[in-house]
Amino acid sequence: MLKALVGSRTSQQMRGFSSVAPSSQHTIIPAQASFYHSTVNSPDAKPDRPIGYGTFGVVWSVTDPRDGKNVALKKMPNVFQNLVSSKRVYREIKMLCFFKHDNVLSALDLLQPPSLELFQEIYVITELMQSDLHKIIVSPQPLSADHIKVFLYQILRGLKYLHSSNILHRDIKPGNLLVNSNCVLKICDFGLARVAEINSKKHMTLEVVTQYYRAPELLMGARHYTWAVDMWSVGCIFAELLSRRILFQAQSPIQQLELITDLLGTPNESDMKYACEGAKNHILTRPHKVSSLCKLYLLCPQVPSEAVNLITRMLTFNPDRRISCAEALSCAYLDEGRLRYHSCMCSCCWSSRGRTMMYTDDFEPVARHKFDDSFERNLTSVSQVKAQLHSFITEYNMRTSQVPLCINPQSAAFTSFSSSTVASPSELPPSPHQWE
Ligand SMILES: [Zn+2]
Repeated sequence: MLKALVGSRTSQQMRGFSSVAPSSQHTIIPAQASFYHSTVNSPDAKPDRPIGYGTFGVVWSVTDPRDGKNVALKKMPNVFQNLVSSKRVYREIKMLCFFKHDNVLSALDLLQPPSLELFQEIYVITELMQSDLHKIIVSPQPLSADHIKVFLYQILRGLKYLHSSNILHRDIKPGNLLVNSNCVLKICDFGLARVAEINSKKHMTLEVVTQYYRAPELLMGARHYTWAVDMWSVGCIFAELLSRRILFQAQSPIQQLELITDLLGTPNESDMKYACEGAKNHILTRPHKVSSLCKLYLLCPQVPSEAVNLITRMLTFNPDRRISCAEALSCAYLDEGRLRYHSCMCSCCWSSRGRTMMYTDDFEPVARHKFDDSFERNLTSVSQVKAQLHSFITEYNMRTSQVPLCINPQSAAFTSFSSSTVASPSELPPSPHQWE
């Protein structure tokens, strides 16, 4: 078994919650009053507390009153401010309910909202994950070669599933890769995710991907891009896992491109075929640079050549020639990560009578269906999205065999949630450079 990698919580996060009055302890309660008195008080249950802030929401660790288990509760506030934000949240909720994969975070439950008139915010329950790859990388905890292999394997396994369901994540970064105490990793935060655009003439937004992990075609103003933007991000994270330093840590999109070409060398024109003219001219008028990819051997002592080879294929300038998830998973470098994951961490393999391992016949499954985003096409007003989202959640709760849950307005968490807002502009990815 891998050594647990969970970071300790700050004392600040824990402070102030032990004095909460018993009546206000439960952030979520059964929506039906008759079940209120059957609320479970598990001895293992921990007090509700905040655990993180994503791009578009606030996350708390809370107790599920039905079984006493600790789960994560995400609040999506101010959902209905404008059409863009309400459609984005609707898409994210639909995606969270669609996903069925061990390395992709999915919704365990949706809290029943009040009446349509009072419907302002959305609460989603997901599995509770204790840490994320960013916290682990910046912590002093040792990261062995085995850890890196098993993390990389799970990132690619989850991403293969996402891409097979036709979804581009568009913000793969260490903070969006949640990790639990058994080193199981799940991709999260689908606030910027969308369905891949098949029509290459259709423009796609460039307001995506945290700058350090942003692919060169995005930095160079490409109007159309593919799953390859996610694979670039994985290449940056792979290098960061080895060196425990951000690979391309620039202050601006222009400098970002500068650092990338310092490592890869000046790309030729055919490698920049998706770039806008202004960006292409910028590169071609700069002094010519030669590749210094051999520097990847200096990421940490004893970097295996298979690792350098795989990073190089992920950090390929031309997105058409960049390695795909499925191809990356077939590399020998990931064999040990696969074996370790399926020997003691997965939910698809098991050992019979505690002896022989019975392995699944599909180690890296794809999605059974593609994610269907056709529901978005005819949404033209905030009130329309609001009504559809309200009935989507109500129907979801009618279908489930569990007692539906709702927020407890008396709880300490609710009071804190009420004052929380969406991420401020400085927390969002920086805007792309405006090429002439
Ligand atoms: Zn398995």
